[in-house]
Amino acid sequence: MKQSVYGLTFEQLQQWMADQGQQKFRAAQVWDWLYKKRVKSFDEMKNVNKDLRALLDEAFTIKTMDIAVKQESNDGTVKFLFRLADGNLIETVLMHFSYGQSVCVTTQVGCNIGCSFCASGLLRKSRDLSAGEIVEQIMNVQEHLDALGGGERVSNIVVMGIGEPFDNYDNLMNFLRVVNDGNGLGIGARHITVSTSGLVKGIRKFADEDLQVNLALSIHAPNNELRTKIMKINKAFPLEQVMDAIDYFLSKKNRRITFEYILLSDVNDHVEEAQQLARLLQNKKHLSYVNLIPYNPVEEHDRYSRSTPEAIAAFEKTLKSRGIQCGVRLEQGTDIDAACGQLRSKQIKKDVS
Ligand code: SAH
Ligand code: SF4
Repeated sequence: MKQSVYGLTFEQLQQWMADQGQQKFRAAQVWDWLYKKRVKSFDEMKNVNKDLRALLDEAFTIKTMDIAVKQESNDGTVKFLFRLADGNLIETVLMHFSYGQSVCVTTQVGCNIGCSFCASGLLRKSRDLSAGEIVEQIMNVQEHLDALGGGERVSNIVVMGIGEPFDNYDNLMNFLRVVNDGNGLGIGARHITVSTSGLVKGIRKFADEDLQVNLALSIHAPNNELRTKIMKINKAFPLEQVMDAIDYFLSKKNRRITFEYILLSDVNDHVEEAQQLARLLQNKKHLSYVNLIPYNPVEEHDRYSRSTPEAIAAFEKTLKSRGIQCGVRLEQGTDIDAACGQLRSKQIKKDVS
């Protein structure tokens, strides 16, 4: 099968050009067409000669997915369900913030981590996305913005869609290099955040990369007993190991880490857990930010419900009183199946029924 041209870093495309006996500057021309003019076929690349266009067309594809569903929320959030070339469905979300246009991308078809509260974990992973398929999500959202005519650009990326990014490490890295490269989209590393459920090796490897991309850890509980109940991955990688890897990341990067904490009513939202969490983060509180996420109900996980506003406020107050920076995540698109994986799992249910 032909490879997606979006999956190649600039250097890889330069190398490909060299391998074809072509001059390296051709890579810059092709990237200009792909990422600045945003054409969808090699034929449109007018300053690229015909022979090279034919070579490119033989080796690569540009467009590999279609929009299956597009839902627009009253608050400007747009949720895309894409159908991949092999029929698989993935989700991508565009969120409009005061600081810009943020896109949440998916890295895998399904997820094997199987957290007990998550719609994505309901269906096991059927495959990893290629780097090109992850980049193409951004390009499709940019195409949507281009069509609106307001000159808006995707300015921020969160890798928080379906899948565990560090379980698809190499493709994730290629994706990050492509979107960050100034020859193309040039989205600043500081405007990109990768979220992990806590794969220790991945966190350490990521710390050693030369990219200054932000890291978020889905922590969700301040002790092993509770965390294992909520996220079975904690059995394989208990909190001590995860926090050691986080400390390693901090020592290498000195960049603030976000800790995501889903608030599940009467499960992990007591003041006692807030106190424990504050203790856990005490020695790195200047480099920590806790994102409190009110649980988005998932039909299949009816054992959980959303914390009460009082519990959320008490949790936040407890953290703040101990000097932990935190906030409650602003909800976006609650009218359109906002929680990651929900649109996809609904569509799959419709498809099979
Ligand atoms: N696999 C990675 C990244 C994708 S999940 C990770 O777990 O970090 C991204 C975020 O969506 C996680 O913080 C996860 O906790 C959150 N999430 C999943 N299901 C949710 C739900 N039902 N309600 C609210 N947030 C949810
Ligand atoms: Fe996978 Fe993240 Fe969902 Fe857990 S929360 S099942 S790691 S996508």
